[in-house]
Amino acid sequence: MVIAKKYVLTNHFKGEPKASDLTIVDEELPALKDGEYLIQAEYLSVDPYMRVYAQRYPVGITMIGRQIGKIIASKNKNYPVGKRVVANVGWRTHTIIDPNLKEHLGQPPYILPDLDTLPASLGLGVLGRPGNTAYFGLVEICQPKAGETLVVSGAAGAVGSHVGQIGKILGLKVIGIAGSDAKCKWLKEELGFDHAINYKTQDVTATLKEVAPNKVDCYFDNVGGEISNIVMNQMNTFGRVSICGSISSYNAQVDALPKCSIVQRIVVGLQLRIEGFIVSRWDHRLMEGIEKNHQWVKDGKLKYRETVTKGFINMFEAFVGMLQGKNTGKAIVEV
Ligand code: NDP
Repeated sequence: MVIAKKYVLTNHFKGEPKASDLTIVDEELPALKDGEYLIQAEYLSVDPYMRVYAQRYPVGITMIGRQIGKIIASKNKNYPVGKRVVANVGWRTHTIIDPNLKEHLGQPPYILPDLDTLPASLGLGVLGRPGNTAYFGLVEICQPKAGETLVVSGAAGAVGSHVGQIGKILGLKVIGIAGSDAKCKWLKEELGFDHAINYKTQDVTATLKEVAPNKVDCYFDNVGGEISNIVMNQMNTFGRVSICGSISSYNAQVDALPKCSIVQRIVVGLQLRIEGFIVSRWDHRLMEGIEKNHQWVKDGKLKYRETVTKGFINMFEAFVGMLQGKNTGKAIVEV
């Protein structure tokens, strides 16, 4: 008999999530039926979208999220014991999967591709959904050209750090905006960003003018709000903005979102193209994105960092720490 541990959403989040909003409970799993397999979580992802999407489900659900789990029992020859899967099954230690059933938020589980000697956890980051978000969100939406200037906000996070590096691979001038001097140092000294601006201590308007005298052609927006208005006001005519996220407002209630300056004047004046996206738009090209990023990692062109929290019991701490900016690169939990 297998007893799974899982986090149940006890209250919808109000403001910053509280530990009491989630409760760990035991669940006794039934015997496997034909076609099913059982995974044991090895790594779990904590991501900004969880703060927003959890509100869409009723209290009592298992907290949403992806994980990498090892198959420890199977009655399905396509999912043999020992393989790893990336599965959108929530914050839980053990899960029975029927591959024919669609999971939360749509994406069916898939076998983790062969990552050679790289850590399996990268399947939640640079070689998983955040990696594909960076790749497709930059290349398809911004359509950058060599020599152009790219600004990325949330630059030291999982998606942002990856976007900036793709920008360098494609021959762009890259400016990152992030929340600490240590993060800015990492972006410049290790990842090769041309400039990095600490939005907590520097005047973003003035510094961006200094470091982007030819203005900005592409903006990859992870944070929204006033930072994004500042960047858009310094763009070139026909600039392209890829709206990936707006983490600066995720802890706010939908009926009390922060107000910010009107942006339409500048959007019209500069004829900007602004497009939001969700990475699932390119789910049919999932492996293409993973393979592209994998090749760049193997070639030494794409670096990654993970902020690893140990212990399933510490999932909440990892989640809130990520929302507070304690992570550099991808925030994950190792069970
Ligand atoms: P990150 O690894 O970037 O972690 C979140 C980071 O957000 C923190 O480290 C913190 O860094 C920053 N942050 C927190 N609060 C604020 C704030 N008020 N203003 C500015 N920055 C803040 O997470 P991800 O890389 O996973 O996600 C980045 C963005 O991409 C999010 O908006 C997320 O929702 C979005 N996303 C969108 C997808 C899509 O399909 N559209 C898919 C995946 C992610 P700092 O110290 O710099 O403040």
